[in-house]
Amino acid sequence: MHINSSFDGGNIRCLKCEHPSDIELEINKDHNSDFYQWFYFRLTGAEGLDCTLKISNAANASYTSGWEGYHAVASYDKEYWFRVPTTYKDGVLQIDHIPEYQSVYYAYFAPYSTERCADFIGWAINDDKVQLNTLGQTLDGQDLDQLIIGTPEEGKKKIWVQARQHPGETMASWWMEGFVLRLLDDNDPVSRALLEQAVFYIVPNMNPDGSRRGHLRTNAAGANLNREWLEPSMKSSPEVYLVREQMHQIGVDFCLDVHGDEALPYNFIAGAEGIPDWNDNLAQLQQRFAEALMQVNPDFQMEKGYSIDKPGEANMTVCTNYIAQTFNCPAVTLEMPFKDTVETPQPIQGWSPERSTKLGASGIDALYAVASDL
Ligand code: ZN
Repeated sequence: MHINSSFDGGNIRCLKCEHPSDIELEINKDHNSDFYQWFYFRLTGAEGLDCTLKISNAANASYTSGWEGYHAVASYDKEYWFRVPTTYKDGVLQIDHIPEYQSVYYAYFAPYSTERCADFIGWAINDDKVQLNTLGQTLDGQDLDQLIIGTPEEGKKKIWVQARQHPGETMASWWMEGFVLRLLDDNDPVSRALLEQAVFYIVPNMNPDGSRRGHLRTNAAGANLNREWLEPSMKSSPEVYLVREQMHQIGVDFCLDVHGDEALPYNFIAGAEGIPDWNDNLAQLQQRFAEALMQVNPDFQMEKGYSIDKPGEANMTVCTNYIAQTFNCPAVTLEMPFKDTVETPQPIQGWSPERSTKLGASGIDALYAVASDL
């Protein structure tokens, strides 16, 4: 038997792997940081064996409430990911599984590889409506890619959409596939109407370095990008610096920042209610966006979510707060679960790439509901 995580997005440290009933593992911290929770590794040589895999440092992971009611995902082909029996007890996250094949992958959520993102961008730029803009390079030397979709014209709304500021939140990339696929569908009347009104500035992966390194939350320098928006720098957070610079040049009428939440078993949005210049217009647009999303996609709901910031108490280093305040426009964080949705569960896969993709496609309807009033 062997445990390996030496691949794109992999993260695990193997302490013991001599006997299938006693495999002991630890998750590595993000480089230069104390965050950890993302794991992704391969087990070989255990076909038909009753395996017990224990992640022994789960108690000090970043979000321990994320382990309650959580089930890890597994895959043989890295295409179809299913949930496997998982328990969290006495600070240990335990996975019990009998692999059907000699090779099986386990992960915190269905991974989304660097290569898949590159292939997706390659596919997208074949469309005449898409322009690729490489904003610059990350600290590990990767390209920071942006897709500009639609024709910039006077009076058109500028809608910014981005995913993976937090690299462990891979559901955001699956969401992005669904969103962009539908936006580019020439037979979709809503997408066509939306592109008459708006131009989209899309960053499919805000944190390519953290994604490739198998991080939960930070980039190559250990910076949490969603706390860098007030004062980003080329030294520690070039990803935010480059995107923010361009936002200031072009302007923003709506920003959708896509994430996943470790603990809450719901899809929800977090708004910018706590910014100094919050107003009725922003509140109304945000409400209409959420209601439209809920109407077309029952996996999304508006009852459960984060507590709403009190007036003036927003953390201005967070992307959506910074943008809503700076550009006086709606800016929302969309959160998807690592677990499953309570009201619309699908126990075999839990929240999944497939469902994330559908929610991404539904985002088109929700933006169409507000675009003309932005
Ligand atoms: Zn996040």
